[in-house]
Parts: sequence; structure tokens; C-alpha cells
Amino acid sequence: MLRLTEIRLPLDHPPEALDAAVRARLGGAAHQGFTIFRRGYDARNPKRIMLAYTLDVEVEGEAALLARDATLRVAPDTAYRFVARAPAGMTERPVVIGTGPCGLLAALILAQSGFRPIILERGKVVRQRTKDTWDLWRRNTLHPESNVQFGEGGAGTFSDGKLWSQIKDPFHFGRKVLEEFVKAGAPEEILYVSKPHIGTFRLVQMVESIRETIEGLGGEYRFGCRVTDLDLDDQRRVRGVVLEGGERIAARHVVLAIGHSARDSFGMLLERGVAMQAKPFSIGVRIEHPQSLIDRQRFGPHAGHPLLGAADYKLVHHAANGRSVYSFCMCPGGTVVAAASEPGRLVTNGMSQYSRNERNANAGIVVGITPEVDYPGGPLAGIAFQRHWEERAFAAGGGTYAAPAQRVGDFLAGRPSTSLGDVIPSYRPGVTPTDLATCLPDFVVAAMREALPAFDKQIPGFALADAVMTGVETRTSSPVRIPRGVDCQSLNTPGLYPAGEGAGYAGGIMSAGVDGIRVAEAVALAMTDGGPVR
Ligand code: FAD
Repeated sequence: MLRLTEIRLPLDHPPEALDAAVRARLGGAAHQGFTIFRRGYDARNPKRIMLAYTLDVEVEGEAALLARDATLRVAPDTAYRFVARAPAGMTERPVVIGTGPCGLLAALILAQSGFRPIILERGKVVRQRTKDTWDLWRRNTLHPESNVQFGEGGAGTFSDGKLWSQIKDPFHFGRKVLEEFVKAGAPEEILYVSKPHIGTFRLVQMVESIRETIEGLGGEYRFGCRVTDLDLDDQRRVRGVVLEGGERIAARHVVLAIGHSARDSFGMLLERGVAMQAKPFSIGVRIEHPQSLIDRQRFGPHAGHPLLGAADYKLVHHAANGRSVYSFCMCPGGTVVAAASEPGRLVTNGMSQYSRNERNANAGIVVGITPEVDYPGGPLAGIAFQRHWEERAFAAGGGTYAAPAQRVGDFLAGRPSTSLGDVIPSYRPGVTPTDLATCLPDFVVAAMREALPAFDKQIPGFALADAVMTGVETRTSSPVRIPRGVDCQSLNTPGLYPAGEGAGYAGGIMSAGVDGIRVAEAVALAMTDGGPVR
């Protein structure tokens, strides 16, 4: 099988043009068929948007073609191969803490390899969790153990379900993640479109389907089980975990996939002496524009084309005060969501449905911060920093989980908003027009005031006076890193496998899933003396 890259055709090309392009690229050689490995688009010139294909082609005489054309290459083998299998009758079981994408993929790989993992999740099954989350969005009631951050499916369940990532992936684990997602009900197209996304509604069904698969393979889920302590022996080796209420579960291999919001768990880990350090993250706001404006600016006359969908964007500005301002987790045709997990604190994020047909585009506009400069004071100082600004946002919104909001025109002019304009904010349970500068560090405000007009040059209308910002966006990534060795185990606590976003090894659904696979392999190898991780 040969892989042909950069086959570029106009957006509205007829189907047969693809075949003609393949033949041309093969210098007229016949082929036995092809599949689309990847389809992206190049919208740099909105009037002439091009589709860019990567195709896998069956040909006879591959060697001769490869010798003749240096741009051709053999399609890599992306099939997933298990590194170790549990021996028959093995009674020892690994524990996976957390059912976000990292914990789910770790548990799935372990289950598929016969290790019958025990999966501990502090939150509830995804359907009940959905109801609890709506309590915040509709009735201003936060459930601290069942919300956008905690519960089956983890942080990405109520999300846009964007699945692309720029991580290095030499073993094609990302492909395995996508294939498992398709088996669980994701649309097939995620296997080949360049920026796949799933949307919230399907994510909920997929999470349930993956649970059924894991249970069918002998895995065991326990919901409402918050891990509150580690049981360590004299050598600091893990012997088990302790649940809230005191129950102890024996385990010598524990995957710690707790996400970036398990602040109490980070505190416990620090108390137990687990190696941990503060890590940079970003803070800012969510911005909303009419999706039609973004579509028009990005796709010109092709706005609304079904192959393009709702337009996204990615923006960066390096501000004069040395800070980088960038767009984060852009959700085309989506809504801004209340993503708090602690009472009296307010956090925003974004989500969408598969159709991405809500009125507004939203994205985080965030500013990078660094531990030594902005919050010196130990591994958990970043959490104190986040909490401070989340509390300010809660107060500025009126103390009801309504989010503080401001028109971009007012923000740039340095005056509080007293009302909002044409862009109706999507955040529920509602917003309070105010001054977002009271909920963000001064250097963040200064950098954003500089960045918005710069972004407007790239996407005219971005600094639209009525575009609306809600705050605060603080959970952009984990504020801590829990370092691990090449065997994926904690540097000073053998048997503990820090994994996923919370440990600083992932940023997003895809990279968290990939890290789950990597760590599951390390566990499987360690449990079978199967040698070093690949
Ligand atoms: P998490 O998904 O955070 O999962 C951690 C799990 O551990 C949770 O279920 C939690 O309840 C559980 N847990 C925590 N502590 C304990 C404990 N002590 N005991 C037992 N269980 C515990 N990423 C994308 O790539 N694309 C997107 O479109 C996208 N949109 C997002 C939208 C929103 C609203 C949010 C909040 C996030 C979004 N993200 C998105 C980010 C993405 O969700 C995360 O990067 C990803 O979920 C991290 O996976 P994880 O498994 O490492 O951690």
C-alpha cells in the first residue's frame, strides 16, 4: 500500500477527479483502489479553498514506483498490537482512578489484554451526571462531586469533542483511540477528516458503550468512589488505595488519571510525598462572536459549505509585556458552559453538539503564566492562584454562578459594561454585565487589550464592540506536573502511574487517550515482567 500526500483539489471537485489525481500522481500506473486516510482543507485564500487529501493506494509493482518517485512512500502499518497479555488465572488486578479519556483508554487496553481492571470514579454514571450538570446550568445548583469536571467520561464529556492533537505519536496510538471511539458510536468520518469532532450528545453514548465493553471483558466500575489516600509500604511502593469512608483496595499498580481539577487529590498526593511540581498554565476569558461572522471571514463565498462546516480559528499574539495571548479550545457553533467544580468559584469553558449549529462561535482567549514568576510558593501555588481568580469571578457575577460578562468595546475602552449588545451570551445560568478587569491579573488584562485589535487584523470583526466575553477561564491545563520515569511510574512512588492531563502528560481528549494507552502498556508489562516500555 502506498501513501500519497498533498493531493490538492478544488472544494467542489467531482468525485472522479480524485481517481484522476491518483493516476496522475502514479505517472499513469494502474491502481487497484484507494482509501482516504486524511482529508483537510486549505482556506488561506477564502475565494479558492482547496481540499488536501492523503490517500492510501493499492498498486502492483510498488517497488518500481517507489524507486521512480521519491515523493511516494509506503503507508505505515497503524494496526494496534498489544504488548502483553495477562496469564490465564491471574488474580492480581490493576486499579485505574478516573474515567476521563485517559482512564477510559487505560482501562480499555488493560481489559482487552485480560487484566480485568478495577475503575474508581468519584462522580456518577454519565446519565445521572448529565442531570446534575444541568442543575448548575438551569437552577444555579452546583454538585461538587458531579459536574462538568467530575463523573463518568471526565472533563471532555460536555465538550466540543475535538479530537486533533499535535503530539508525537510514533506508535499510532491516536489511531487506536479513534478506532475505539468509532466502535463506541463516534461518526466514521473521525478516522479521516483532519479536524475530527464528536460533540456532547454522542460523547455521552460513547462513554456508556466503552463502559459496557470494559465490563464485558471483566473490568469493574465503581462510581461515587473518591480516592482519598494511598497505601504505601516502607519503600514507598504502592500497596493500595483508600476510598472516602475508609475502604482500602489492595493494588500494586495504580493508574492516576484524575484530571486537572482534582485539587483535593493533588493535596493528598503532596501530603503523601509524591514527587510533584508546579507547572505553567493559562488564564483568561471566553469570547463569543456570531458564527456567521467567523464563517464569512474564514470561508468567504464558501461559508456554509457542508464539507467545511462551521469555521474555527487559531490565533496567537505576543504582547509587549512579554506575555503570549492565544485562542484556546475554540468551539464553532457552540455554547459557553459553566465548568465550576468548587462552591463559590466560577469557571468557563466551551462545548458544542456534533452539528455545531448554535448561533455563536466561542473560544478561550487566554494568557500564559509561569509558576516562578506569577505564583511562586510550592507545587500547589498554581491552584491557590486559580482559586483566587475563580472566587473574584463568582463575586463579580453576583454570587449565583452567573458569569461576569463584558462587551469587547467596553473592555477595550476600560469601562464596565452595564448592558450587552447584539451578541447574546450563551452561558447558563446567565451573565452579569460588569468589568472583567476585576477578575483577572493586570498583566492578563493588558495583554488581552493589546491582542484583541491584533486578532481583528487577522479576522476582521474579531474586536467587534458587541462581541461578548465571559470569565474566567482558569482550567486550561493542569497547574501541576507529577513526573514519572520511562516505566511511567512516579519518580519516588513505584506502582503509581501518573497519567493524562492532571499529571501534565496530556492536554485534550486525544492526547489524554493516547497517554492512557501508553500507561496501560507500562502497567501490563510491569505486571507480567514483560520488559521495558516501547
Ligand atoms: P479528566 O477527563 O479530567 O478525567 C479525570 C477523572 O478523574 C474525572 O472523571 C474525575 O471525576 C475523576 N477523579 C478525579 N479525582 C478522583 C479521585 N480522587 N478519585 C476518583 N476519581 C477521581 N479537549 C479536547 O481535546 N477537545 C475538546 O473539544 C475539549 N473540550 C472541552 C470542553 C470542556 C467543557 C472541558 C471541561 C474540557 C474540554 N477539553 C477538550 C479538555 C479535555 O476534556 C481534557 O483534556 C481531558 O478530559 C483530560 O482527560 P483526563 O482523562 O486526563 O482527565
